[in-house]
Amino acid sequence: MFLAGGLSACRARTGNRPDHQSDQTRSRPTLQNCRTFFFFPSPEARETNTRPKCLSKDWHCPDHVSFANIHPGHKPFDVITLTYNSKNELCKTDESGTCPDAVDCRAELAWNETRQLQQTLWPAHCIINDPESELDDSLLTKEDDHFVLKGSRCSVDSYSAFFDNARFESTGLHDHLRGRGITRVFVAGLALDYCVKYTALDAKSLGYDVYVVVDATRGTSPSSAERAIEELKNSGVRLINSSEIEKCFKKKKNGSVVAVTLLLVAAALLVRRAKKRTQ
Ligand SMILES: [Zn+2]
Repeated sequence: MFLAGGLSACRARTGNRPDHQSDQTRSRPTLQNCRTFFFFPSPEARETNTRPKCLSKDWHCPDHVSFANIHPGHKPFDVITLTYNSKNELCKTDESGTCPDAVDCRAELAWNETRQLQQTLWPAHCIINDPESELDDSLLTKEDDHFVLKGSRCSVDSYSAFFDNARFESTGLHDHLRGRGITRVFVAGLALDYCVKYTALDAKSLGYDVYVVVDATRGTSPSSAERAIEELKNSGVRLINSSEIEKCFKKKKNGSVVAVTLLLVAAALLVRRAKKRTQ
């Protein structure tokens, strides 16, 4: 299984942002190589390629709660606290910004029947039906790829390709993989310390044999990437480079189906730009 996705590779942004382009240039060939290996292992197999592959990408409303520009007084990378009521609705608070889905929760707040979630704020990205939210044309995709659109609910973010950050809803990816007998998942793409990490951890918690292809990922910063790698290691996720994929593939158990997850997340690229602007 090959699963790609996230906020990355926003087509329209590639050409005119040199730093964005260089990041994509660095990670894309490795991603393409992984995909080519998994899906087209031999010329003969190209005709009968049945290995499943998935791509996930963010799909946000224009006023998504994760966007810094809907939170007056805040900037990208600030961390805020969001409050949700017992119906999983976002409560109107000082931190809910102008998110259109926020509701009045005064009664529940008074009874302490709410739960809170930390949210990092990002530059606006991957807005529904915006041409810039499309995957870059140069990424190899096929008509039968399974696409996961995540973060489409305005009031809650979704780093993982399996669940939103509050675990209110699943994306259906687990059912999709399970229905195809997938037992092993390879995760790659952007960003290592957010979408790749949370997808890999969720896959592990759901019982998959999980590999992260480290050289086909990038973190939002070296220190954050290092922390993510430690966390993944400690959670039993296997870390490999793309040159080791073939070896892992050969080791598969009889009858098991290999799933490759490739996450391409543009947020990391946009984040770097925003950081530069604020320096
Ligand atoms: Zn997002």
